[in-house]
Amino acid sequence: MDYLPSSEGILKKVLGYGYQIQPGALKILESLDDEKALEVLDSFPEKFPEAIVIEVKHVERILEKTRIKKTAETREFRLKLNGKITQIYDGSGLIQRCPKCNRWIIDNFCIVHSDVEGVWDLRIKARFDDGKERCTLIFKRDLTEKSANITLEEAKKVGEAATLERIREALFGKNFEIDGVKLNGGNFLVTDIREV
Ligand SMILES: [Zn+2]
Repeated sequence: MDYLPSSEGILKKVLGYGYQIQPGALKILESLDDEKALEVLDSFPEKFPEAIVIEVKHVERILEKTRIKKTAETREFRLKLNGKITQIYDGSGLIQRCPKCNRWIIDNFCIVHSDVEGVWDLRIKARFDDGKERCTLIFKRDLTEKSANITLEEAKKVGEAATLERIREALFGKNFEIDGVKLNGGNFLVTDIREV
């Protein structure tokens, strides 16, 4: 599907947030004022912390709520955590995304766009234990590169298995101080990380 230039800003924003989006959901966002569309996007992580694809029903639910409440709940809960990374989940490391919808794809095949030239990306999902509670940490590309000390270019050279190994070596079983944004459901989007 081709997107008009006017929609590129919204799509870019969506992809920049690390989300994928259904064409129908994108249409709804495009039909809103830019400001309103951004408001919906900003409240998405808190409302649907488990979702990686923005679907029509998500957008409709956010719009419904903001109509009733008149104010968008865009509060973020920024926290510092101290603890240990106790598991690196599957799907972490070097992955490919569809260039059109940003879905995680395998072998250059997107379920919506069929054969595409996949775009490489890096991410980590990990379990974190502070001694009292456990939660899931989400690392996007920049924090993955920083914490595993590997760039996307290097990861592409060494391949998926070696990249994942490098992430395990850098993170698994070690203690960290984490700056994160708490999402509903207990997940943390990592915004900074230091080994302690
Ligand atoms: Zn696609």
